[in-house]
Amino acid sequence: MKPSAFEYFTPNTVEEAVGLLEKYEDEAKILAGGQSLVPIMNFRLGRPEVLIDINGIRDLDYIKEEGDDLLIGALTRQRDVELSPRVQEKCPILAEAVSFIGHVPIRNRGTIGGSLVHADPSSELTTVICCLDGEMKVVGPPGDRTLGPEEFFLTYLTTSLEPSEILVEVRIPTLPQNTGWSFVELSRRVSDFAIVGVATLLFMEDGGICKEARIALGGVAPTPIRAEEAEELLAGQKITDALIVKAGEEAAEIAEAEPDYHASAEYRKDMARVFVQRGLREALNKVRGGE
Ligand SMILES: Cc1cc2nc3c(=O)[nH]c(=O)nc-3n(C[C@H](O)[C@H](O)[C@H](O)COP(=O)(O)OP(=O)(O)OC[C@H]3O[C@@H](n4cnc5c(N)ncnc54)[C@H](O)[C@@H]3O)c2cc1C
Repeated sequence: MKPSAFEYFTPNTVEEAVGLLEKYEDEAKILAGGQSLVPIMNFRLGRPEVLIDINGIRDLDYIKEEGDDLLIGALTRQRDVELSPRVQEKCPILAEAVSFIGHVPIRNRGTIGGSLVHADPSSELTTVICCLDGEMKVVGPPGDRTLGPEEFFLTYLTTSLEPSEILVEVRIPTLPQNTGWSFVELSRRVSDFAIVGVATLLFMEDGGICKEARIALGGVAPTPIRAEEAEELLAGQKITDALIVKAGEEAAEIAEAEPDYHASAEYRKDMARVFVQRGLREALNKVRGGE
């Protein structure tokens, strides 16, 4: 099918885009990489009357460092994030997570901002940003505000962005030395959306004690979620396999998975357990110098 008719604007600045959003509000949609919006429009699941194509706002396409953080412009293509030597060195879990998104042509067009605003709880980017405690900077008519994952992701395909706001930047803390990390997922085929995705970070102290653990789950609730009780089990501990087994069981407890044509709720929950355990073993192995 083809989309219904729409008006089309190509602003060159964030201010112009915000002005258009303010004018057209709910009638308007921002077009970034188009990898989610265009199929939605072609199936007529969405019929925006106005499209605001932000691909001309070149200022929104960058990866830079500020102090201990990476700053990534919302229009940065997923493929550029995946291949960035800076991201690979300073925040390898992000590059790894992005590499699981669709196929290369999808990542060549799809943007980091589009994926986060689309807010699919199975998406690799939402899960990894939740694990990293990334911050989303949005700009609207009154100015800008910064939102953490819990404030940003409200529910399935819904963020707290106002109709007249645009996501401009994501701030992501770089990983200190001595951090174990992993991104693992279960999907039906390579490149499919995750049935369950798990991002794991282990911040280690000398002597092999885990100072802080972070575990984020995708695909098992209306938003990506942190397995806080499992994280607490691991914090301050020398991580043993028995502890990993327990953390996986604890993490699966919080899964509010819904059944769909890919998997039953019970299967998703059990796979959350399995993939948390797998992810923790991989993260621990990495910090010990393994592959
Ligand atoms: C075949 C296929 C397979 C895919 N597989 C995966 C997968 O495995 N994992 C995965 O995570 N994704 C997958 N995707 C989706 C892909 O990652 C999309 O690129 C992403 O979800 C949306 O990014 P986009 O830049 O294309 O945004 P668009 O499609 O242009 O926009 C998506 C939404 O975000 C809004 N938006 C975009 N940018 C901004 C902004 N800066 N500020 C405010 N609102 C904004 C738009 O208005 C729209 O509502 C797949 C897509 C396809 C077609």
